[in-house]
Amino acid sequence: MAKKLNGTVIVTYRCNARCTMCNRYKEPSRPEEELSIATIEKLPPMYFTNITGGEPFIREDLKEVVRALYKKSDRIVISTNGFYTDRIVDLCKEFPQIGIRISIEGLEQTNNEIRGLEDGYRRGYTTLKTLVDMGMKDVGFGMTVQDRNAGDLVALYNISDEMNMEFATASLHNSFYFVESNNIIHDRLAVAQNFEDLINRLLQSSSPKKWFRAYFNHGLINYIFSQKRLLPCDMSFDTFFIDPYGDVMPCNGTKEKQVMGNLNSQSWEELWSSPEAEEVRAKVRCCDRNCWMIGSASPAMHKYIYKPFWWVVRHKIFRFFKKKKYSMYELKIVRDFRDGKVTKQELDACSTCERCKVGEA
Ligand code: SF4
Repeated sequence: MAKKLNGTVIVTYRCNARCTMCNRYKEPSRPEEELSIATIEKLPPMYFTNITGGEPFIREDLKEVVRALYKKSDRIVISTNGFYTDRIVDLCKEFPQIGIRISIEGLEQTNNEIRGLEDGYRRGYTTLKTLVDMGMKDVGFGMTVQDRNAGDLVALYNISDEMNMEFATASLHNSFYFVESNNIIHDRLAVAQNFEDLINRLLQSSSPKKWFRAYFNHGLINYIFSQKRLLPCDMSFDTFFIDPYGDVMPCNGTKEKQVMGNLNSQSWEELWSSPEAEEVRAKVRCCDRNCWMIGSASPAMHKYIYKPFWWVVRHKIFRFFKKKKYSMYELKIVRDFRDGKVTKQELDACSTCERCKVGEA
């Protein structure tokens, strides 16, 4: 039997939000050119599928998309801004096993400013609460941590914890997908301090899943200091992204779109073993963008499990026997930055922020 893959299906580039860190809404897809059910049916078997956008629930046929994907995939999680409560609730009635991650970028005012969605926090929160009250098990927040909202990180985690929800984090990235090349964290130490607090909250819990989330957040500190990824990136080998136009890509982190083939016009087998796909894989092997997004970090954490595993064991042992908490200064780069051995300008220059490379940040 063919090996199951990890796939991300970008069902639309249309979006009702106006996030400060993502310009995708300025380059939406047209409904008539978005992935058809016939194309979705050509996807390979998957052990995990993330449905994302744009805002996926803008598509009025999303239920049909999910129906088609459940024939292919063991587990599906939809990333959404949670604005279309009725549509989300309606879909969850048919698929109570589905995962829903709602992007909330901070407490009310911060969220609405960053997302450019008036009433966005209340709508997102209402959707979350409704789903929990319906008995949905796999529901959670997603937050893109940046200078403006880092101070809300632990407060939002506490809300998710009280509601017994998942809490997914990310930080700023630049790529064709976000139609953005100038995202950057300015006050790295302040943002990392909030991640450190979150990591200690996660390590303190009794949930092994949260301990591994602590490792992921440790990787985010490493990322915002523009360092090499903690784990290799194997995107396009057993993972893929497909965009609304049917183009299959390794990931959503590249500067320009990298295309392995098009599923509207090719079969999966033809596309996946094509010379174009091999060319993209060769580029991934020497990619230096060092993204740390859940889509590329989670498969790597499963594949190279021994590394996060030992990190978790070490920190749990230190915590238990020596009462020692996690510190961001265990990363050499953070110590070097604190001690003035590395400057902000040097770190900026190593980031993916284009403006920073020419010293304009
Ligand atoms: S590091 Fe990985 S996820 Fe990021 S752009 Fe390169 S190949 Fe894509």
